[in-house]
Amino acid sequence: MNSDTATDSTLRTVERVVTGRATQDGAGVRLTRLLDGSLQHRLDPFLMLDLFGSDRPDDYIAGFPDHPHRGFETITIMLEGRMRHRDSAGHEGLLGTGGVQWMTAGRGVIHSEMPEQVSGRMAGYQLWLNLPARDKMCEPDYRDYPAEAVPLYTDAGVQVRVVAGHSHGVAGAVQRPVTEPLVLDIRLAAGARFAQPLPPSHHAFMAVHDGELAIDGTSVHREQLAVLAEAPAAQAVELVAGPHGASALLVAGRPLHEPIAQYGPFVMNTREQLMQAVDDYRAGRLA
Ligand code: MN
Repeated sequence: MNSDTATDSTLRTVERVVTGRATQDGAGVRLTRLLDGSLQHRLDPFLMLDLFGSDRPDDYIAGFPDHPHRGFETITIMLEGRMRHRDSAGHEGLLGTGGVQWMTAGRGVIHSEMPEQVSGRMAGYQLWLNLPARDKMCEPDYRDYPAEAVPLYTDAGVQVRVVAGHSHGVAGAVQRPVTEPLVLDIRLAAGARFAQPLPPSHHAFMAVHDGELAIDGTSVHREQLAVLAEAPAAQAVELVAGPHGASALLVAGRPLHEPIAQYGPFVMNTREQLMQAVDDYRAGRLA
């Protein structure tokens, strides 16, 4: 590749760069919200992306005690640290550094996500992926992938953990129908380039958690999210790491184009379905 690729019309461009917003969730865990309700339609089928990362136990120690979900999937990518998951379907798992948890809430799950460390750094992502209307009330499911079970693609200066979808012939840990999500946890050395084919109509974004990289000449920094533009001719995205390298999450999927109704941890298609979820939860019927 040469420098001409930076303006190649067959590559995705950046539509906008969003700077993450500091917030708290769970029992007071400090985190950076990169994708919130204002981007749910633009980035359909993805509903939320949080980045947490701190070496101060006070920022994370309270964790996420028992809380419900219905109607979508949560994907947790642990970059550093340890967190224990327990849920109402009887699943339990310890998520360590590099581990991935893929939970399908379906018709309902009540779970806790608690740090299993009292010192040191804890960092990771949580991504919410919507379910198609027809699958929102499916049976809950839960999968745990330790770091060594996440397939890896490597090239000069490039390390890509293929969480979901495919990259350069490497099949990810998870494949999902309908939305066909691509989730890549990427590490690039200084100046390294990585190109990833993307279906032109799929919604796509990239979040940076370390360093800086450029897409089509637009720089994206730590705790920022780049919304990638769709164009019929754009078949791929190319990432170019800055002078100190970069770590980023690249995410893409086929939009559902269905109504989105959200009330906190419930994401359905109509207000009536949300009221049903609240009723079910209060009556102990959710999970
Ligand atoms: Mn949760």
